[in-house]
Amino acid sequence: MRDYLVRGISKDGTLRGAVARSTALVAEACRRHGTDPTASIALGRLTTATALLGCLLKGDQRLGLKIEANGPLEKLFAETDAHGSVRSSIKNPVAGLPPKDGRFDVVGAVGNAGLLHVTKDLGLKDPYRGSVILVSSEIGEDIAYYLTTSEQVPSSVALGIILGGEGEVTAAGGFLIQALPGASDDAIGMIEETLRTLPPVATLLRDGATPEEIFERIFAGCDPTIQVTTDLRFRCTCSREQLRTLLLGMSEEDRRHACGPEEVATVVCEFCKEAYRFDCLDLGLPANP
Ligand code: ZN
Repeated sequence: MRDYLVRGISKDGTLRGAVARSTALVAEACRRHGTDPTASIALGRLTTATALLGCLLKGDQRLGLKIEANGPLEKLFAETDAHGSVRSSIKNPVAGLPPKDGRFDVVGAVGNAGLLHVTKDLGLKDPYRGSVILVSSEIGEDIAYYLTTSEQVPSSVALGIILGGEGEVTAAGGFLIQALPGASDDAIGMIEETLRTLPPVATLLRDGATPEEIFERIFAGCDPTIQVTTDLRFRCTCSREQLRTLLLGMSEEDRRHACGPEEVATVVCEFCKEAYRFDCLDLGLPANP
């Protein structure tokens, strides 16, 4: 089953939203980073949230979400473009925490004190940067808090990841709902009522509901239209040539040092964990006699 998101709007144009299925995307991020179960859920939530916010981008715009906090995961980052390509990384992929109250301790893994940083490259001279403190460290609530306070668009964000017995990702997804200027209290109240009785989004996806069906369910009564469908995939922007250029910018001594006695420098991309190998010739160094 492919990953994708749908984005749509209510008939009167005052409520908009997106629903994503991100199971394969999250599974690939977790596989590449070797996350333990609690870290998988945290990384999966941030990766899915980033994909959802990406639906508001256009053209060459990019968006990044970074969480820096005092938990064992230390730092999580995810980035997307307007076309559903998402990449994400985690400083420490092993939370090493036992479950708390029968649930994975995501709050403990992220940490109870920290910041959510948002970077948006909208093609202007300088990228937009915003930061808010973490209000719950559950990630979805923190992003909703950022959207509501910093961007002043009242928002609701739900993110869900279900793991199997081996810690593998069996379902992942989420939704974003935003109230635009002019949204009536009645319409907002109707959606709030729906959300109170809606099963968790990952449960709906696991049980076979499509993003379209979940979207229709959330916005039932608002006569919604789905405007855009975007495929989601894990894709990194790194390339061998880009990293080679970076290495060539270093001094000859540093390049020599990077190559070591094996005369091969290995550079691992922090986002996708792809390893690139460069020999002396690649780095403009004479081979040792
Ligand atoms: Zn990469």
